[in-house]
Amino acid sequence: MPELTDAQLDQLIKDIGLKRPRGGSQRKPIAHGTFNGAQQHRYRKEEMCGPCGDAYRAYWRDQNAKRAARRKAARQYLTEEEWQAQQAARQGGGAQ
Ligand SMILES: [Zn+2]
Repeated sequence: MPELTDAQLDQLIKDIGLKRPRGGSQRKPIAHGTFNGAQQHRYRKEEMCGPCGDAYRAYWRDQNAKRAARRKAARQYLTEEEWQAQQAARQGGGAQ
């Protein structure tokens, strides 16, 4: 087989229809057992594997628990004055 010039090589690649693999995220291995891994399964329209499903559910359980706790705290403990004090503190940039 004779050596090809770059131009011939380009032409050959075009002729046989080689394509570069598309985009990064599709090609990355899935980080199984993490919330990100679960998102990757979803993105690829695959069914999640067990560990990813667990991580996914745990993530949302955690999120919901946090949200519920915040709501509960706000409802239970804050008077109008306290709420305003908290807002002022937040705007001062000293959260937690
Ligand atoms: Zn997985």
